[in-house]
Amino acid sequence: MNSGFLNSNTVKAKARSLGFVACGMAPALPLPTPVVERFCQWTAQGRHADMHYLARNAHLRFNPDALVPGVHTVISVALPYRPQRSVPGISMYAHGKDYHTVMRKLLKQLMQDIGATGRSFVDTAPVPEKYWAWRCGLGWQGRHTQLILPALGSTHFLGELFVHQQADAYDRPMAPRCGGCNRCTQACPTGALCGNTLDARRCLSYLTIEHRGPLPPDTPLQDTFYGCDRCLKACPHMTKAPLGIGDFQPSEPLLTMQPHQWDALTPEQYQTLFGQSAVKRAGYEGLRRNIAQFSKQNGKPFTVSRNPEGPK
Ligand code: SF4
Ligand code: SF4
Repeated sequence: MNSGFLNSNTVKAKARSLGFVACGMAPALPLPTPVVERFCQWTAQGRHADMHYLARNAHLRFNPDALVPGVHTVISVALPYRPQRSVPGISMYAHGKDYHTVMRKLLKQLMQDIGATGRSFVDTAPVPEKYWAWRCGLGWQGRHTQLILPALGSTHFLGELFVHQQADAYDRPMAPRCGGCNRCTQACPTGALCGNTLDARRCLSYLTIEHRGPLPPDTPLQDTFYGCDRCLKACPHMTKAPLGIGDFQPSEPLLTMQPHQWDALTPEQYQTLFGQSAVKRAGYEGLRRNIAQFSKQNGKPFTVSRNPEGPK
């Protein structure tokens, strides 16, 4: 194991060279009690819906040393995903390749480039990634509960390295900058954002991606059938969000899907369009369920307005 100190400037330069738009470092200390209490209160209120894994493994979630024994430093990175051309109905984060695959490869490379030892994480273990991104100085958690990077918005995936080495310098957390704005809460069609927290039971992202079984009949899908970007798009900090890397841009077959084709989506088409995509999370049946509900609510076959200019 390399027990030397990491040079923070070198780590950040290596991260930039791999395409990460932000990188920060923090000592791997247990989470402060108020943060833990807030999280436990959120799950006790049932706001995590049936994502029961969020309430499990608390000892690993709140103490990095329990997850990676001997860890000294957490390195948090952000990878941009904003698509250049928009696919109506599908959340921006799911336009391209599955971020787990893309991020995992880049994190492995970063670990190797900086000569560190430890583990990498991308949304696959009990790691409170928004907390660590904030603690590593990348940005602040907006009222829509996503992390906002100053001047870069919120269309990025987060990844973490938990490493055994100490760093020569650590970053400071950033104070919230939402001020009196509440555009995101006003843009939410279901009232899922309240008191700076998310009630997943009402969130269209949760309902169309994570939820199994029928959708509540009054779910206001409006113009979406996979995920929801309304609160993100309403945020004034999104105006300068950088374009995503090539892996997160939509494929030509996805861009050329016609509205009527969604209603008749076959398992083969689904596999072609989403075989390497995060949309697999909902599964073929889940996607069909969403499309069927959309068409039923609108009283006509599936149609969504096209936005050739890309996301606003
Ligand atoms: S993703 Fe959509 S439903 Fe969920 S909080 Fe944001 S605006 Fe509301
Ligand atoms: S829309 Fe306004 S309140 Fe919501 S996250 Fe952005 S800045 Fe904060």
